[in-house]
Amino acid sequence: MSSRDSRLIQKLSSKPTVRSRGYTKDTKNRVQLLYALPPLALYVHVPWCIRRCPYCDFNSHSINGEIPEQRYLQALRSDLEQSLPLIWGRQVVSIFIGGGTPSLLSGAAVDEMISMFRAYLNIWPETEITLEANPGTIESGRFSKYARAGVNRLSLGVQSFNDRALTALGRIHDSSEAHKAIKAAKDDFDNVNLDIMYALPNQTLDECKEDINIAVNYKTNHLSVYHLTLEPNTIFAKYPPKVPDDDLSAIMQDDIVCILEDYGFDRYEVSAYAHDGNRSIHNMNYWEFGDYLGIGPGAHSKLSFPDKVIRQVRSRNPDLWMSKAVLNNSSHIASEEVIEADSFPFEFMLNVLRLRDGVPKQYYYERTGQPLSSIQGTMDKNIEKGLIANDPMRIKATDLGWRFLNNLQMDFLS
Ligand code: SF4
Repeated sequence: MSSRDSRLIQKLSSKPTVRSRGYTKDTKNRVQLLYALPPLALYVHVPWCIRRCPYCDFNSHSINGEIPEQRYLQALRSDLEQSLPLIWGRQVVSIFIGGGTPSLLSGAAVDEMISMFRAYLNIWPETEITLEANPGTIESGRFSKYARAGVNRLSLGVQSFNDRALTALGRIHDSSEAHKAIKAAKDDFDNVNLDIMYALPNQTLDECKEDINIAVNYKTNHLSVYHLTLEPNTIFAKYPPKVPDDDLSAIMQDDIVCILEDYGFDRYEVSAYAHDGNRSIHNMNYWEFGDYLGIGPGAHSKLSFPDKVIRQVRSRNPDLWMSKAVLNNSSHIASEEVIEADSFPFEFMLNVLRLRDGVPKQYYYERTGQPLSSIQGTMDKNIEKGLIANDPMRIKATDLGWRFLNNLQMDFLS
């Protein structure tokens, strides 16, 4: 996932589908029993950016001056320590340091952070550790320090190579900084993702294709390509720029897929493209309805236990989170709720239908505790419409289903 995927899933997981604390009193609407827990990933939120982009609805905060690194690391350690009882003994399959702009952190801070994770968590030496970086924040030599600290995958928020588009997006970098950052990333990492956006303000089809062609020529092994969306409560929602209409956006999307497939990229998820063997482990875990512990301000967690699946959300405000996390009394956790049984069909399908290959059918039972029969009626209806594949082994959308993905996902809401 690319960096944006990670933040996207953090955002998707904030849906009001759950019950608040006090859930222990009522068990009739809970999971039946989870015989095995799903894989567990770690998400770490670094909340600061140099300047907020007008389209951004992630938990990002402008920073004037230096990041309070030591205070942040101390709070992160405390947050992690308080989370350990929830994940005792579990292997961590991937780590994603997202934001915000994690590349504002010094190499020493990232080194201290990863050493902390290695000391507290079960992590294999080769575990995927992604750090999200933004061009324009890259001091010379910083990427090699991240690599030495243990980061083995870098996700760069390039967005576009067109200066006019980057200005319209309010990005702090220009195209020359984007090129410089990619070259620096490739010097230090074998595993590099580029985030690119399309349907940008006043973007033409040729400009969109040019961005994609430039990106593929860098021969990174992963690309994440997103449609710009005008999210509520952003500056773009209040003052909408002129963006390509639905027809042009659809043509852009089709052309992007064609170009990337010509270059051998596998579109394994709606927005994610990889060369063989380079799918993002972290993002796959999200889309396969795995577990994740999210630490840092505003981070979301989904954690399974034999008799329930819970969600947690940390306090969003960085100062508040830092002050509360070090009190060691869990007050930095803004909410903790059990996912109700009738929320699982939508929650599960919202994720797994984004994957080109879907997931094995047994995941539904294994990861929700609910029988497949609870969604079979809606599945059958959509198999008949040609939106879900008639596959005895897997739950997956058809090509047509992907075209109408939102509607298909919504069908499982009831
Ligand atoms: S750099 Fe990314 S996280 Fe920061 S404000 Fe811009 S879009 Fe949001």
